[in-house]
Amino acid sequence: MIAIDTVLVKLASRCNLDCDYCYVYRMGDDAWRLQPKLMSERTVEALGENLARLVVAQGRPLSLVFHGGEPLLVGASRFDAICAKLREQLPPTVGLHVQTNGLLLNDDVIRSCARHDVGISISLDGPSEIHDRHRPDRRGRKSHDTVMAGIARVLAHTKGRSLLSGLLCVIDLEADPASIYDFFKSTGTPSVDFLYRDGNHDTLPIGKASLLSTEYGEWMGRLLDAYLADDEPIRIRLLDDMMRLILGGRSIKEGVGQDDYGILVVETDGTITKNDTLKSADGADQFAERWSVHDDLAELVGSPFFQEYHQSQRPKAAACLACPDLLICGGGMPTHRWSAAAAFDNPSVFCADQKRLIDHMREQIALRTAA
Ligand code: SF4
Repeated sequence: MIAIDTVLVKLASRCNLDCDYCYVYRMGDDAWRLQPKLMSERTVEALGENLARLVVAQGRPLSLVFHGGEPLLVGASRFDAICAKLREQLPPTVGLHVQTNGLLLNDDVIRSCARHDVGISISLDGPSEIHDRHRPDRRGRKSHDTVMAGIARVLAHTKGRSLLSGLLCVIDLEADPASIYDFFKSTGTPSVDFLYRDGNHDTLPIGKASLLSTEYGEWMGRLLDAYLADDEPIRIRLLDDMMRLILGGRSIKEGVGQDDYGILVVETDGTITKNDTLKSADGADQFAERWSVHDDLAELVGSPFFQEYHQSQRPKAAACLACPDLLICGGGMPTHRWSAAAAFDNPSVFCADQKRLIDHMREQIALRTAA
């Protein structure tokens, strides 16, 4: 049986920010409009019951991530009740996390996270001149100061250092990577996850001039230089994963390497979909049949639909299968392989960037191991 590692639970289908790169609201998929604004109590309860059974059936714990939209739009007291209910239903080995834009991170929410052992990850793109360029609220107002205040509030809690899992940054190529690294280090976060801007073979990611250009690879290479120059670096998931893979280890998250990850997304009405990022690949996030939290999740995971989705993580393009960097790159995220003409049968749109970054990493590792 395929093991599920991560379940993204959309407590809210709307967001209080209007980010210019959002794959949910800005990529032409309006399915969110048909979803209830908030997940109901009945749906949370059915989710908890069924996930508890799935964890027993697969014999492995998983992580449940409150997502959105913006999950904290449910409000502090309802968020607390949801965490309490799921903690009551799920085995203690199940990790609970919230991925938030940070605007509604008040003391009540932070206390709930501490009480129910919920890790907090906050989206932040860098200093205000970068972050506010892309992440205004729905009235066009800046959000940076409020997010920074939220981070400070989490860190001020007695359990703050363990509550803050990390920050999530979508790359702006116009930002200087070394300054961005210094900025994130100054926030006190233990880690940062850098994401490439979304795109595919039909719509190139912003900042990428052609399939052969290497803007993202060069940017990440300069970030790597700043990271390697720091004696006490913060964790950078993508760089750490890729360097571990180069050294013969394993990755811990999707997008690089050859390990498969089991990911389910639960919409606010309880419908189960595939990985959310596939929305930007012509709505490929939907299963052919409707599954929901009221169905047997172990049966869904064992179904041919799910197996097909799971296998789609592996690249099929001839260029990837013959690629000397396949073990490290893994063909990238499926959504980045998509084109209308060949569906997912392409290398990643970031192929040239990945090769550039991998070469730079190898050089740096060789330099340091020879020293
Ligand atoms: S996307 Fe490019 S670098 Fe990655 S495995 Fe495929 S061919 Fe290799």
